[in-house]
Amino acid sequence: MGAGASLENLPDKVDEAKAKEIFGDNFDQAKFDAAKAEDGTITKDQLLEALKKPADDGAAASAAPAPGAAPAEEADAWWLTAGEVDEANPRNTDEFKYRTYKERPPMVHTSEGGKHKSLMCKHLTPELFEKLKDAKTPKGYTLSSAIQTGVMTPHLGVGITAGDEESWEVFKEILYPVIQGWHGFDPNTQKHTSDLDANNLNMTPEQVEKFNKYVASTRIRAARNVSGFSLPAGATAEERAGVAKVLQEAFGKFEGEMKGTYYDLGSMTDEQKEDLRSNGFLFQKPKPTNLLTYCGAARSWPNDRGIFHNDARQILCWVNEEDHCRIISMSKDGDVKSVFARFAALSDGIKTSVESGGSKFQFSETLGFLGTCASNLGTGLRASVMIKLEKLNENVELLEKICAKFDLQPRGSAGEHSAAVGAKWDISNKQRIGFSEVQLVQKMIDGVDKLIGLEEKLAAGGELVEGTDY
Ligand code: ADP
Ligand code: MG
Repeated sequence: MGAGASLENLPDKVDEAKAKEIFGDNFDQAKFDAAKAEDGTITKDQLLEALKKPADDGAAASAAPAPGAAPAEEADAWWLTAGEVDEANPRNTDEFKYRTYKERPPMVHTSEGGKHKSLMCKHLTPELFEKLKDAKTPKGYTLSSAIQTGVMTPHLGVGITAGDEESWEVFKEILYPVIQGWHGFDPNTQKHTSDLDANNLNMTPEQVEKFNKYVASTRIRAARNVSGFSLPAGATAEERAGVAKVLQEAFGKFEGEMKGTYYDLGSMTDEQKEDLRSNGFLFQKPKPTNLLTYCGAARSWPNDRGIFHNDARQILCWVNEEDHCRIISMSKDGDVKSVFARFAALSDGIKTSVESGGSKFQFSETLGFLGTCASNLGTGLRASVMIKLEKLNENVELLEKICAKFDLQPRGSAGEHSAAVGAKWDISNKQRIGFSEVQLVQKMIDGVDKLIGLEEKLAAGGELVEGTDY
């Protein structure tokens, strides 16, 4: 939150200058403009409401707070200065320094009345911390680096990052329980499975019609990381540039409908960025509440980050955001099967292309595709629809509960931890591993189908009964 502007004695109407003073760096012009009255002010209540929402949400807007939102005003919290700065870390930059924790930081899990919500906090006992604290991957990633973002950002659900593919083995005693807690997948007994055949998906013409009525757009994405290079949380500038080079060469070999152009983030104009962001095509610069900031993955922004898209903008690839590459298939309708077919073609196409250049993706028989976050292992697949749920939006807690029952994950309209502006929600599968790609997309189709049914029931004046409706 912005400079400690006093909230006492606030006038009933707050003008732009005052809102800027209160929100500081988090002031969001677009949201202020959308919320302001004809006289150019927002009400005190709107402002106080917006302050309760995550920093990502910016100024006042008629938006439901998102699940997993970061609490405001924690500027002097102990977790921001716990441990010591690791001055000798060669990956430090002027704006980011890795930290070292000599003992387990005094995080207390939310289930025990503490502030830290993550599975890392829950499973990292003092004994396990002692056991792993001096472990290091061959590329130099440590337990301290892995937990830094989870220590410094208490609202995160996972709270631990991998800095390279070896982290998944070196830190598995903490990572496996986190994987199990997030996905319900036990790496000790289960194996990653894959099915990329769109013909195995079931979506009836009636369902397509229903989706087209409610869904503004569909998006299916997965993470892919290039073997041999550290992941963004641990990468040196040379590694980051190396990854961008491998991927750009791969995009250059795409043919037919997949053919397109790569745009370097640092050289893009503001108009280009805004155009891509307003369509949900491009990632945002990570804010402090995003897991990327305190794990070091946002260092030297925007160097060697970028986006590839084909001419129809249905196939997109992000470079060096949370993972080396996010492969994405999108469409402005609810025809999930076609979006998945294009996703599968992209998954195959980029694999072939990267391998023809002598590289390969990070992959393990047990954990599937490896990446930065335990929440994106295995298939790494997140199939989402952007959907307006006006009735369910009136009770976000209920929406969250229903989503949890259907193995769905609700996010706000501008990505993880953002608010649902205009009752628009991003609803996707929650798991990424333990099920094949087809099974996960099927879970999303079936779950969203039920969610639409519940929305319609509420709109018709009905009530939802736990145990019967969800
Ligand atoms: P991910 O981690 O899957 O990349 P994020 O939550 O970081 O997703 O969001 C990335 C961007 O993609 C955001 O701008 C978000 O609004 C957009 N997005 C996600 N799902 C959809 C969708 N179905 N339609 C349009 N945009 C979407
Ligand atoms: Mg993301």
